[in-house]
Amino acid sequence: MWQAQILTLFPEMFPGPLGLSLAGKALQQGLWSMDVMQIRDHATDKHRSVDDTPSGGGPGMVMRADVMGRAIDAAVTMRPDSSDDDWPLVYLSPRGKKLDQKMVHDFAAKKGITLVCGRFEGIDERVLQKYNIMEVSLGDFVLSGGEIGALMLMDAVIRLIPGVIGEPETLKEESFTSGLLEYPHYTRPAVWQGLEIPDVLMSGHHENIRKWRLDCSEKLTKKRRPDLWKEYSRNKCDD
Ligand code: SAH
Repeated sequence: MWQAQILTLFPEMFPGPLGLSLAGKALQQGLWSMDVMQIRDHATDKHRSVDDTPSGGGPGMVMRADVMGRAIDAAVTMRPDSSDDDWPLVYLSPRGKKLDQKMVHDFAAKKGITLVCGRFEGIDERVLQKYNIMEVSLGDFVLSGGEIGALMLMDAVIRLIPGVIGEPETLKEESFTSGLLEYPHYTRPAVWQGLEIPDVLMSGHHENIRKWRLDCSEKLTKKRRPDLWKEYSRNKCDD
């Protein structure tokens, strides 16, 4: 069973939306599980403080290395017998490598993950060094904390766990898996506000439908995502 350990100052945020729908059902069925840990439990002073002013001055607060270190040590001790290779330690951070579907597949193939959610200006750099933490970003924007990022990452992984999605075929065709964006979808009614469903989809001719969908995927990717298109066409030529 895939397991997520989450280190956060806001445990109430979990499972949050992942307690509903596909992920929620899968959680109930025991297809994945989570262990949410309060970072503040590892503070030692009487105010239970987890942050302090930045060395060198400047605005904001920084999460203390000693508190974070103890929290991470506790998480590592609690995870089931596993090496670092099959249980990545991740810090959600705008400076990290951008999350993509390939990374999501890699994470889904592991036994579990430990997700460190930052708050304030982030965590003391020495913690990242010491534990060789992988930094993962959700995109080029700044969130107020790592929690929503952790939920997004978990959502993307959970839907890949066998048994979570009823029709595994869905996963094969979707955006990014093939290196292309997905083709457009239609369903009844056949005519809506004067707009019709493309004839080929109503033809029942499976090979033509397959070709049409691939053609749409290619055109859409070329137009919207030249970066993906470049990669896809390079691989295509190598065949
Ligand atoms: N001062 C930092 C931003 C801190 S935001 C900087 O400029 O780089 C506070 C926390 O939100 C971070 O510690 C991180 O855990 C989380 N966070 C913010 N933006 C994120 C993003 N794009 N992806 C993942 N996590 C993010």
